[in-house]
Formats: sequence, structure tokens, C-alpha cells
Amino acid sequence: MILPVLKYGDPVLRRKGAPVEAFDADLQRLVENMFETMYDARGIGLAAQQVGYTIQLAVVDVSGVEDRPSTLQLDRETVNVEEYMPVVLVNPVITALNEPVSGPEGCLSFPEIYGEVTRPESVKVEALNEEGERIEFECGGLLSKVVQHETDHLHGILYIDRMTPATKKEIKPLLEQLRSDTQMQLKRQK
Ligand code: ZN
Repeated sequence: MILPVLKYGDPVLRRKGAPVEAFDADLQRLVENMFETMYDARGIGLAAQQVGYTIQLAVVDVSGVEDRPSTLQLDRETVNVEEYMPVVLVNPVITALNEPVSGPEGCLSFPEIYGEVTRPESVKVEALNEEGERIEFECGGLLSKVVQHETDHLHGILYIDRMTPATKKEIKPLLEQLRSDTQMQLKRQK
């Protein structure tokens, strides 16, 4: 089932997700629906907050993206990123492995709004999968960006929070328009 994606201005996007404790059928169904929603929107990552659930769950799939490379290491061995996709991240914890780099980012909750965001180029990720099993990997490039972007969502942090004041100023009219459209829509739904 394709779920509606919440847009900037919806207060749920600012809520911190509770850790997932039950790896039951409800969770499996949500994971399935989140993948369906993400693929339908041609996204490469989606956090539970974006579909209205304030829990620590995100889905990621960077396969098929050719213009922005990713790297992946499991147990210090470099592995094929495509073969490891898609990834479900439950209760993820991220550790930066090197210096921040700047690059453009978008977000399904901010349609058509892009801006430069600075993040560590590579990170170590410790999480659980949808079965509750521990997963751990190191990644760089696009995959690292996406994992950091989605983990931020789980804490109510948005990519605009990590933009420089100059970048944010540039897109400010778009942000204000989106926020007021969303708030109007929320009012109508009440
Ligand atoms: Zn996002």
C-alpha cells in the first residue's frame, strides 16, 4: 500500500521516534508499505516519520543510482552495494569516520527543493533489521548521505537544519510556501 508522504510544515516531521521493540507482523507490514511508497516516489530513502509513524525505522535503496557512487564495507571487506540493497534500519546509531563534505540533497517531504548539505563522507552504521537482527556496516558516498539523512529524520532533524545560512536563505521562499500549503491542508483535514 502506498502511504501519503508528509510534507514540511507537518509537526510529525519534528518528532523524535521511539525505539522499535516489537518485530511483529505490524512492523513487517509497515516496512513493506514504506518500500512501496519510496519506490513509487522514486526516492532512495524514507523514514517512518515521513509516513506518520514516530518510531526509529527507515528504509534505504541506492541501487540503480549511477551518477552518485556509494561504497560499502562489511567486516572491513569492500562489498557490492547493489547486492546489499535494500536496507532496513531499525534503531540506527551512526558514527562519523572522517571529515564532512558538502553535496546537494533533496527530500520526499520537500518536493523539488534541493540544497547543499554538509555531512561526514563516510560513517559506521549499527542497527537492527526488520527481523531484529544486528547489522553493522561502513559506508561512503551517496549511501552514507542517505543513511545520515534518514537517521536525522528519526530524531526530528531535517536536511534544512544542516544547510548553511546562505543556502537556507536562497530556498527560504520555497520553504515558506511549502510550509503554509501544508498547514492549510492540515487545517482542512481537521
Ligand atoms: Zn528526507
